Amino acid sequence: MHYSKLVEIYEKLDATTKRLEQTDVISKFLKEVDVADLGITILLLEGRIFPRWDEREVGIASKTMLKAICVVSGEPISRINFEWKKTGDLGTVSYNLIKKKKQSTLGSHELTVKKVLKNLMELAAIEGHGSVDRKISLVAELLTSAKPNEAKYIVRTILNDMRIGVGEGTIRDAIVWAFFGDKLKAEYSKEEHKLMVEDRAKYNEYADAVQKAYDIANDFAPVAEAAKKHGLSGLEKMEMQIGVPLKVMLALKVDNIDEGFERCGRPAEFEFKYDGMRMQIHKNNNDIKIFTRRLENVTAQFPEVVEAVKKYVKESKVVLDSEAVGYSRKTWRYLPFQSISQRIKRKYGIEKMSEQYPVEVNVFDIINYKGKSIISKPFEERKEILKKIIKNTAKKIVLAKSITTSDKKEVQNFYEEAIDSGNEGLMIKKLDAPYKPGARVGFMVKLKPAKENLDLVIIKAEWGEGKRSKWLSSYTLACRDDEGNFLEVGKVSTGLKEKREEGLSFAEMTDLLKPLIKKEEGKEVMLKPKIVIEVGYEEIQKSPTYSSGYALRFPRVIQLRDDKSSDDVSPLKMLEAFYNEQKKK
Ligand code: AMP
Repeated sequence: MHYSKLVEIYEKLDATTKRLEQTDVISKFLKEVDVADLGITILLLEGRIFPRWDEREVGIASKTMLKAICVVSGEPISRINFEWKKTGDLGTVSYNLIKKKKQSTLGSHELTVKKVLKNLMELAAIEGHGSVDRKISLVAELLTSAKPNEAKYIVRTILNDMRIGVGEGTIRDAIVWAFFGDKLKAEYSKEEHKLMVEDRAKYNEYADAVQKAYDIANDFAPVAEAAKKHGLSGLEKMEMQIGVPLKVMLALKVDNIDEGFERCGRPAEFEFKYDGMRMQIHKNNNDIKIFTRRLENVTAQFPEVVEAVKKYVKESKVVLDSEAVGYSRKTWRYLPFQSISQRIKRKYGIEKMSEQYPVEVNVFDIINYKGKSIISKPFEERKEILKKIIKNTAKKIVLAKSITTSDKKEVQNFYEEAIDSGNEGLMIKKLDAPYKPGARVGFMVKLKPAKENLDLVIIKAEWGEGKRSKWLSSYTLACRDDEGNFLEVGKVSTGLKEKREEGLSFAEMTDLLKPLIKKEEGKEVMLKPKIVIEVGYEEIQKSPTYSSGYALRFPRVIQLRDDKSSDDVSPLKMLEAFYNEQKKK
């Protein structure tokens, strides 16, 4: 398929913000696409080059892209920079400049989606000495064969900034409409902006099947292929594969032990809630892979975990769910999450980090056993299997500390023990529940004392004054609504350090935020919403100033949450709930 076909679709999607209309456009398109191009098309539609779980990255910064556009357009860097500042989008800049240049030379050979994806994938493989220059020439080569509007979307894809707002939900629905729409007699009415379906229940059944397959594959490409080729049975046959991460099951929150019992039944299992990072560990003989809750591959960063799993997990093919907690070699006590968070992104000095900030893996679930998914088995049975295969070895790998009980008093004591030994609280698990990937369904719930901090994403920042003028030192924070829009809740500038050695510093924050700048206005910069920070506060107040309708009193940065993505940002509903709770007290 020609890339220009896909660009037509991008343009249609660009022209509307209405979700259903976008779904309609995509679903009609997917119906037409040949099965051989379907996977590629879906990835590119999502603005991706690799599936979510794949650790490869093209690794091209805006500055490098600027140079590639310079090579192709023949315009000086200063001009490109000027245009970039003006529009805030290198995609548009390349469109304008290439259009200007190309008027006479149009008609070179057509790009196909295959060729575009192949070249983009090659970028990720370029490393080592001179890699920046080689990347520039590969991008330039692609842009040279591109028409102006093709260049726009290629540039945006590379920079991971598609701006067409196609979310996971849209793609999922588009797959349902495209491949089951006829069966369901589903039709989108543009006038009423509504999906007309005869049998809603049936529709939900198909939508669930697509969602379930997606939760397993973490990639819409194989899901769409299965649906197109084999329909519902194709989706149902999709099996998890060791080595490909599964979305993790998420927890709801309860306020007290009674509510925990109400949710999870009696007896229930109670486990320590460790303050570390989620690790999904795949073991296929000696091939071990470790993924974060965002399904990033962090195997290389945690060599001691790889060793521990090889040594102390007595089964050759398994997938485990666990929490890795940092501990001090001196005191043997657990350390807060921040101490190990710096290991997640590390590329160098890994051995030293592993010496300095070692982790203990606390295993609490198993989702694949002997190469077969066991997510539909009850938690109780999964736990029994776990007990058989983990050789409990302190400070390496252990089963999460737990009790199974119906007795509130016993839970109370266990809860106190958990807090006293430096944990966040308890997790409560429903004994007869399956493992639901990606879902917050209440099969596990958390019980934590006091007020919770918020995880907020930084969407704007401001250059400081005086001695802080080199730093972005004030950050505008946002929560998110159900549609995935980011809504402001105020600004924060306390909690960061002046010196790098002292912890999370303004300088480090500036390093993180600078590559995300979309636009500058005076002292203020607009940012791609990527960096998530945990924020503490005294109180939540109603506020007409910010788009969320709320503001935080005395906000302070607690820590960087580089294990969380903008999808994990605290929902507006949570702020509302906290606000209402506060009023009660
Ligand atoms: P939260 O991030 O506050 O929603 O709490 C859920 C997180 O707690 C999970 O994603 C895990 O990373 C972590 N956790 C710590 N201990 C456990 C445990 N025993 N069972 C399940 N999750 C745990």
